[in-house]
Amino acid sequence: MAEEVVTASWAYGPSTWSILVHGGAGDVAAERLPLHVAGCERAVAAGAAVLAAGGSALDAVQRAVEVLEDDPCFNAGTGACLNADGAIELDASLMDGTTLRAGGVCALEPFKNPIAIARRVMDESPHVLLAAEGAARFAIERGFQRAAPESMITELARAKLEAARAKHTTEGWAGGTVGAVARDANGRVAAATSTGGVVNKLAGRVGDSPIVGAGTYADDTAAACSTTGHGEAMIRVCLAKTAIDAVRATSAESAARGSLAMMHARTGGTGGAILAARDGSLGLARTTRTMSWAAAANDGTRASGA
Ligand code: ASP
Repeated sequence: MAEEVVTASWAYGPSTWSILVHGGAGDVAAERLPLHVAGCERAVAAGAAVLAAGGSALDAVQRAVEVLEDDPCFNAGTGACLNADGAIELDASLMDGTTLRAGGVCALEPFKNPIAIARRVMDESPHVLLAAEGAARFAIERGFQRAAPESMITELARAKLEAARAKHTTEGWAGGTVGAVARDANGRVAAATSTGGVVNKLAGRVGDSPIVGAGTYADDTAAACSTTGHGEAMIRVCLAKTAIDAVRATSAESAARGSLAMMHARTGGTGGAILAARDGSLGLARTTRTMSWAAAANDGTRASGA
């Protein structure tokens, strides 16, 4: 596989517990990158606190993603990018590697924390993925409140939509999708991913992030994976599942590198992937110019980058 397309990668571990978050593959301007890295560091600290207290990998990745959704820097929750109608439509999913249970929402109108709704889909419905109006109804029935769109739309999101409209493009995605993977002290792994998708997308477009096997996958016998990047390409190669299958024969970092190289070779798509393997080792790779990330482990390791 032509691995020269990989622009950066990182590895750590093994460890008793560990967590790794990303703030989206893309091309974030240099002056904004420190904000993205700091946001990832805050999110990983919140997830690490869950793991340090003996909490589950699933609770840790959900907590970390909620922190990222609340940070207006990122293209998830507050700060999500706008579709061609100038509206927010949110995609999110999470997966538990022990039970292989998963939950997701897609094309969801503004709600502050779509990942928390995805968790309830997993825990309280017989389904894996709820879309649009039905997902909103499910959320409201469980006490979630619709958010006023203005409370979640940032100036930056408006500016990016104007720029994309001027160029007649949906390309150059927002660069702020978020995700987290973790392994807890009991050897369980989990993954979560949340996004506004791509700028100027058609209303109703659903990307990889809420799709089990594309944007998110977790299996205690191998690893957990959250991906980011060109969603249509990632769906077509089932990127997260592909990376997890690769981890059975190689390291988390090398699985991330190899799966992204394969996606680029087969579809031309670029992006990033983060993995937490069953032995608590972590790995990430990207084929884009930037992808903010932060990691933590039980031995006190704290690392971050972009
Ligand atoms: N993968 C996301 C999507 O296509 C976008 C991203 O990761 O930036 O919806």
